[in-house]
Amino acid sequence: MSNAEREATPIRRQYLELKRKYADCILFFRLGDFYETFDADAELVARELDVVLTSRPVARDTRIPMAGVPHHAAENYIARLIERGYRVAIAEQIGSETINGLVPREVRRVMTPGTVVEAGMLDAAKPSYLAAIVGEMLDREAPASERIAIGLAYCDITTGEFCATQIESELDLQRELARIQPREIVMPETGDARKPSPDHQMPMAPLPAYRFELGHARQTLLDQFKVGTLQGFGLEEKPMALRAAGGIIAYLRETQPAALKQLSEVRTYSTSHFMGLDAVTRRNLELTESMRPAVKGKAATLLGILDRTHTPMGARLLRTWLSQPLLDRAAIEERLGRVDTLFGDALTRAQLREALKNMPDLERLASRAVSGLATPKDLLNLKLACEKCAEIEDGGLAGSPASIPKLQSSISLIDAAIKAEPDDDGFIKPGYSAELDGVHLAARDAKTWVANLERVERERTGISTLKVGYNKVFGYYIEISQAKSNLAPADYIRKQTLTNAERYITPQLKEYETLILNSDERCIEIEKRLLIELNQMVAAQAKDLFEAAHTIARLDVAASLAEVAARNNYCRPRFNDDHRIEVRDGRHPVIEQLLSEIPFTPNDTSIDRNARVLVITGPNMSGKSSYMRQVALIVLMAQIGSYVPAQSANLCLVDRIFTRIGAQDELTAGQSTFMVEMVETANILHHCTPRSLVILDEIGRGTSTYDGLAIAWSVIEYLHNHPERCAMTLFATHYHELIALAGTLPHVRNLNVAVSDEGGQVVFLHKVIEGGADRSYGIHVAQLAGLPPAIVHRAQDVLKELESGADNQDPGDKRQVGGAQMAIFAESSPALDKLKTIDPNSLTPLEALTVLYELKKLSGV
Ligand code: ATP
Repeated sequence: MSNAEREATPIRRQYLELKRKYADCILFFRLGDFYETFDADAELVARELDVVLTSRPVARDTRIPMAGVPHHAAENYIARLIERGYRVAIAEQIGSETINGLVPREVRRVMTPGTVVEAGMLDAAKPSYLAAIVGEMLDREAPASERIAIGLAYCDITTGEFCATQIESELDLQRELARIQPREIVMPETGDARKPSPDHQMPMAPLPAYRFELGHARQTLLDQFKVGTLQGFGLEEKPMALRAAGGIIAYLRETQPAALKQLSEVRTYSTSHFMGLDAVTRRNLELTESMRPAVKGKAATLLGILDRTHTPMGARLLRTWLSQPLLDRAAIEERLGRVDTLFGDALTRAQLREALKNMPDLERLASRAVSGLATPKDLLNLKLACEKCAEIEDGGLAGSPASIPKLQSSISLIDAAIKAEPDDDGFIKPGYSAELDGVHLAARDAKTWVANLERVERERTGISTLKVGYNKVFGYYIEISQAKSNLAPADYIRKQTLTNAERYITPQLKEYETLILNSDERCIEIEKRLLIELNQMVAAQAKDLFEAAHTIARLDVAASLAEVAARNNYCRPRFNDDHRIEVRDGRHPVIEQLLSEIPFTPNDTSIDRNARVLVITGPNMSGKSSYMRQVALIVLMAQIGSYVPAQSANLCLVDRIFTRIGAQDELTAGQSTFMVEMVETANILHHCTPRSLVILDEIGRGTSTYDGLAIAWSVIEYLHNHPERCAMTLFATHYHELIALAGTLPHVRNLNVAVSDEGGQVVFLHKVIEGGADRSYGIHVAQLAGLPPAIVHRAQDVLKELESGADNQDPGDKRQVGGAQMAIFAESSPALDKLKTIDPNSLTPLEALTVLYELKKLSGV
């Protein structure tokens, strides 16, 4: 204890002691009707919550910063802190008795982003995941990609979902984290923690490393699941997954023990069973977040288009499906089959959707009951959800009969116990508990007796002004004016003398008073007990309740996908085993909904073994990016089991979608735009497979024309020639020179976006057609954008000069590869000789860059 601490007031010492234990949390310290924070916590809270920063004396001449929030409004304030990733420890007063002049205080709950269960702190349409990561270096000598083994586990304590997996590379970990989007990540305090990259900005919770050790974690899980072996969960073969899962449970024991009841099993899975989508691709394809900051929310995202679910369970499931497209054809067809049935039967679809409307969150409500946290209101909502399930099942809307378990026992139970609206007598229905009814009855009798007392005593004493009253200090009393006080009967006991009146009590009055006052307390106590029992009885039905919730979620998603398909004129995708993507009249699902003035122009796509690299040219703004994204989105939608925006689609199952689109502002991450572009491209080139779909937009734009063109050129060659990396590729570019590649590489096809140029008026037709673009229309676009006419005219002149200059220089080259600037690709030159010696497959990105500089120098440009 420091000197300052020794001199501090007792309450300050109590505070400091608690704060020491919860140093990594903001400590909310209950003081009467407020939660107060002190010192640095207070400064932070004042700043983040915009509350007043005051100060409080703690010793002679010492004041410390203090900021507080009223306890009745605390949930809202805490929610805001949690949302920003802080952890909050709540120290409550224990009882009202003081010990050595101090009310004892204890931290009863640590609120963290991944462990909250309060409805106000959750997004109904999103899972709320807590994740744990543990990593281990396997072999320091091995290449980076094989060096580590990582265990990842995640759970949602509001639904009971609990999954674990083992991952071999940092990159796969990043991909999984981008999919799961945990609200909080638990990691070992020291040593082997693998830190996710900063762009995730997820709150980290350190846990002592031994909790992640194999033996410790195994024991934790055996205790949790009350089993003798973890074999049944598939965890013994995945020791890292086991360690992470054990870490999560250990963390929950400390922060949210009530939630442990939720987690009755863990599912192990393998990331290779799902389509791989890295964070960049998820962002580029705008699956759940729009890239345009102006378009807030999910309106302009794929999720926004597909989500017409009516229940929170359905909304969460659709989001999960969207972030985890399948690779298993049978599973995809099964989902599509369900959509198909509802697509074809508009009446059932409408009835089902109507029945799903306003269905409460059965899944989270059942979870609350399992944790013993369900309030009377929660139970009524749970009953309503059960009734709606029965309505759907009885109405034959759930597809195959008996697909939703019977939930009648939960309905009857809650119906018998809980009033539709609580009243002065509480929330339990009369007739449910004889004990409670007895207390109510006695209290009512007592109240009637007191109510009649005035009349009875006036008659008995003959004093017509006698009054019966109540005040907080003396309780019930009989009041007689001073003038008549000599008439007070002998059994009246004088209690208080006022100027004009005397106040009395009688032993009987006191008896009834005690009955009335105690009954309120007793009723609250009995109701509390009954509520716990009700929670337990509902929890006993949890298996059926969860099963019903999951069935409803699947029905809701299928109905939503069928509804969207019908409204937007989608078709059911077919699948081939042939590396073939054939789309007729495909559309971009989001842009087609956002366009209001002009109709969206549909486009075909054809990729197969013979034409697997499509080079797309065309002016700015003509629709190249939209076209490529459209192909990716159609593939992705098909693999979550959705219909797709096209006339017809015959697709192969794609194992990963990679995108490298546009120049993104990564300056905050301290990397130059070009560097980011190259890092992302390198990542794609290292990991794609012949079953991957690769979307590359404007590769090489971030550097000088020659560097850029040379990189673009060799990337296409690599993707075309490499036996293992020959992915299905869509490559949009401004480098018209690349059109020539189709002449030498047999599997490259040129496409361009048609433009009409009649009478000097450029009109974008958005139609993708065979062949390369004839020129680039950059100046026209500049004109459209409103550049001053003088500049446009001058630019046209300069262009003419440049073009004729190029022609003069070497007309032959222009025919061959598109311009004199391409001298480096002439038949013989030092640069070409150098190029011939290079094997791009064996180059690291850094070596590639070095070679580029060398090439540039050799070619003298
Ligand atoms: P840049 O080269 O400048 O990136 P781009 O050729 O990639 O341009 P996009 O960004 O794909 O062009 O498209 C520009 C705009 O054209 C889109 O925002 C959209 O509004 C419209 N557009 C794209 N495709 C179509 C289409 N098929 N039908 C109708 N409008 C379209």
